Amino acid sequence: MSQYWSAVVHGLTPYVPGEQPKLPDLVKLNTNENPYGPSPKALQAIAAETSDHLRLYPDPNGDSLKLAVAAHYGVTTQQVFVGNGSDEVLAHVFLALLKHDEPILFPDITYSFYPVYCGLYGVEYREVPLDADFAINPDDYHGPNGGVIFPNPNAPTGRLLPLDAVAAIARHNPDRVVVVDEAYIDFGGDSAIRLIDQHPNLLVTQTLSKSRSLAGLRVGFAVGHPDLIDALERVKNSFNSYPLDRLALAGATAAMNDNAHFEHTRQAVIATRERLNAGLAQLGFAVLPSAANFVFARHPQHDAAQLAAALRERAIIVRHFKHPRIDQFLRITVGTEQQTDVLLAALAEILAV
Ligand SMILES: *Cc1c(COP(=O)(O)O)cnc(C)c1O
Repeated sequence: MSQYWSAVVHGLTPYVPGEQPKLPDLVKLNTNENPYGPSPKALQAIAAETSDHLRLYPDPNGDSLKLAVAAHYGVTTQQVFVGNGSDEVLAHVFLALLKHDEPILFPDITYSFYPVYCGLYGVEYREVPLDADFAINPDDYHGPNGGVIFPNPNAPTGRLLPLDAVAAIARHNPDRVVVVDEAYIDFGGDSAIRLIDQHPNLLVTQTLSKSRSLAGLRVGFAVGHPDLIDALERVKNSFNSYPLDRLALAGATAAMNDNAHFEHTRQAVIATRERLNAGLAQLGFAVLPSAANFVFARHPQHDAAQLAAALRERAIIVRHFKHPRIDQFLRITVGTEQQTDVLLAALAEILAV
């Protein structure tokens, strides 16, 4: 019945998220979820909020969560925006801060939601090729543009851009907003949030989906100059006054305040990543240096799509992208120690055939 669709809908190319299969007992290493559970304090806070309170609307401003984020990063609440997953935060960023006359810039290999938002909001873009080693070259982000966005560490490569290079990109684009999508920063990098006071054009987004193990709760945030945050609030309040429900606000606030659980689980993921790297290298894989909770690896003698299919037959799912530059790579989420053992054993078996 697509004659009822608007012209905008006809023109959309929606994002395709990694699969969430309904099968039990899968070793699920395809969407970068945290293998460890969220903070028990977050679960308690959600349980406590599960009451008659739910008949009341939540705080439209999410002040408790803004306070927790501000305290964690040593910024003010006027420098914090919160939203329903960082995907929603990013959507508002595209409309509020990246939609200008000139095309925005992002890497050719990056989070594949960016071109989707460009399509939705009519933002022109230019893809900037990563170098031969899949690194971002900061010099490529000079010159006229409508804004810049990239993940750091980048996805799906896992490669980290050092903070001085992030600062250089912000410095070379004083009239445009530079957005750093730090979905994975807690697994191996320093946040650019410490640069926002020197760079009023720098906006940093983060999510509670990965390092805080709350992908199911849908919470993300942005940190930057109050004028940038204001722009996001204006869009948000023209779209949905209550993007975060009571359970999400309670759980996310408690999660941000539980530093002990956060430290413990992220260090466990980092340690397992190093073991996974070593195990893959031993099997002959070339693995890009990763600062994230996933690794990006290819095997010089084995086709990536075939490897992914063989793993799937063994109930292990990893992510494979059909993009020509990376179609010989697998993106593998860091799981538990035991999931890592199962994965490495399965790969050893597959490669031996
Ligand atoms: C996972 C991810 C997000 C989205 O996070 P949500 O908060 O779950 O919406 C954003 N950017 C990148 C690069 C990601 O990998």
